[in-house]
Order: sequence, then structure tokens, then C-alpha cells
Amino acid sequence: MKCDSCEYGTKDLSVEVCNGCGASLRQVDGIEIGHCFDLGTRYSESMGLEFAREDGGLDHVLMASYGIGVSRVIAAVIEQNHDDRGIDWNSEVSAFDVSIVLAHHGHEARNEARRVHNELEESGLDVLLYDGQRSVGERFAESDLLGIGLKVVVGNNYLEDGELELETRGGEKVAFSSRDMIEEVRGAIR
Ligand SMILES: [Zn+2]
Repeated sequence: MKCDSCEYGTKDLSVEVCNGCGASLRQVDGIEIGHCFDLGTRYSESMGLEFAREDGGLDHVLMASYGIGVSRVIAAVIEQNHDDRGIDWNSEVSAFDVSIVLAHHGHEARNEARRVHNELEESGLDVLLYDGQRSVGERFAESDLLGIGLKVVVGNNYLEDGELELETRGGEKVAFSSRDMIEEVRGAIR
């Protein structure tokens, strides 16, 4: 339940009126990622933590703390960003900006994919290169499963014409010349 007039909110669905300002509360969807603790003077009394008032007297310091759960934050990001293929990390939290999917078997293609990988890495991007013993279909699927938002596909067109393909998570594909690669990839990062 949340107050629209002030900052007050509570998990208790039976509370209908704001504790802070008296306005009526509204039910909203939320994800719990942390907690606030109202400690009062519990610890300042036991530690003798005091401050001097204007009139010279002493008071115990009122204390509070909050904690954000890192694993809860990750769970909340996933809850907000996923599709039927798995996690869809946004660029702020993704470990990789782009993955390179080798859609061709053979040494030449593999070497070219490494070159593309190195060039993108040198431009400052975090790049995952898939060149393990997997089928082409598995490489595409695993890139999605890991939550990477962009794929650069190195396939026949690259070997023949120097043309790469950029594929977004949503399945949109753009072909471009490898000369424009860094510009194209950077422009497509969300
Ligand atoms: Zn209020």
C-alpha cells in the first residue's frame, strides 16, 4: 500500500490510511529489494552515543539503517526484464554488450570471429565470443539464455563480402559492412 501525498508505504494490505499524513493509501505492485530498520535509541543507549542539545542537556542519538539485498536487486531486474528465451539484461547490468555468434564451421570463420571480437573489445566493449563445440543453433540459443541483448553473426556473408549481421534480442536483423562495425554495434546498444 502506498501514499500518493507523501513517501509512506507499507506491506500491510489492511492499512488503508497513511501513517504519515492521513491520506488514503493505494494498492500498488512492488518488489522488495531491501529493508529499513527503525532502531531508535536501542544501540545509542547501549553504546553511550549522545549529542548536546541547544539547552546544554544530552540526548541519545536516534538511529536507523537500511539494507539493499544485492541478490534481490538482481532478481528484481530479471523479473522486470525477461522474455520466453530467458533473461534480457539491460546494458547497465549485463556482463556483455554483445556476443559474437559464429554461424559457420571452419578455421577461417573462427579466426575471423576472433578478429571481430578483438576489434570490438579494443573499442571498449565487453564481448562474448562463442567458438566452443556447439551447433550454430545452440550458440544462438545460449547467447539469449545468458541474457545478452545483441548478437553479431559471423557467417557466409562475412567470408564472401565482409558483411556482418547484427541481431537484436527481439529478432530484428541488420546487415552492415565490417568497416562500420563499431559504429553499428555501439548504436544498437540499449
Ligand atoms: Zn501520506
